Amino acid sequence: MLIVQKYGGTSLGDGDRVRAAARRVAELHQQGAQMVVVVSAQGEMTDLLIEKAAQVNRRGNLREMDAYLAAGEQMSAGLMAMAIGALGCPAVSLTGRQAGIVTDGVHGNARILDIDVSRIKKELGSGKVVVVAGFQGCGPGDDVTTLGRGGSDTTAVALAAWLKADRCQIFTDVDGVYNRDPRLFPDAKRFSRISYEHMLRLIENGAQVLHDRSVEFARDAQLRVEVLSAFTGAPGTIVGP
Ligand code: ADP
Ligand code: ASP
Ligand code: MG
Repeated sequence: MLIVQKYGGTSLGDGDRVRAAARRVAELHQQGAQMVVVVSAQGEMTDLLIEKAAQVNRRGNLREMDAYLAAGEQMSAGLMAMAIGALGCPAVSLTGRQAGIVTDGVHGNARILDIDVSRIKKELGSGKVVVVAGFQGCGPGDDVTTLGRGGSDTTAVALAAWLKADRCQIFTDVDGVYNRDPRLFPDAKRFSRISYEHMLRLIENGAQVLHDRSVEFARDAQLRVEVLSAFTGAPGTIVGP
């Protein structure tokens, strides 16, 4: 059983939350699953980095912004691997490039073109949990690229597709996909299942709970994606055919 799990920024917001995610991962690994864990930058880290960059260069520099922003996810990956390791479970963190994620050269909004999964498979084969920095890849000329805001979802779903994972679980700060943003509309209704097309329409209308390209990858691979709360054991939403 190969499981890809993704943890978003709020779900990794502090040390306790990182440890809670690490415990879930280590438990499944203990039960015999091969685990690939994709992580976002902690909390509001990406927004903070964007603000800091604007302080030194108002016009922006897309190549350097990618180098800078990708560091947020890289820190999360190292931290998560250490948290998992502290539970006695061997883990290794990989950047997007180390994970074999090849993108086009559109800095700030790159598309994943291919994934060379050989390194990930080698690490899984040696019994390790593999923690991958989300939101980033390697573009032409060996440059760091980022996948657009919210792009860690796409890292997770693309890895699940390339690795032919048995399960792809997106852990976030709400317990699934609703017909409207449940933070703004307390009477919003949760879907237990939703089709790819319906999900894409919701995203078009502003539901940023999943990155649009993640749903396109899932649809193209006919992969079921589970959207779950990182904080409760609630059943969540399955995005599927
Ligand atoms: P993560 O950091 O885990 O990737 P995001 O902030 O990107 O989390 O996405 C989760 C957020 O999406 C929720 O906190 C919620 O406010 C918002 N959201 C907007 N529309 C919806 C919707 N239709 N269903 C669920 N969540 C939604
Ligand atoms: N950290 C990035 C962002 O805030 C990517 C992600 O969260 O998926 O957009
Ligand atoms: Mg997100």
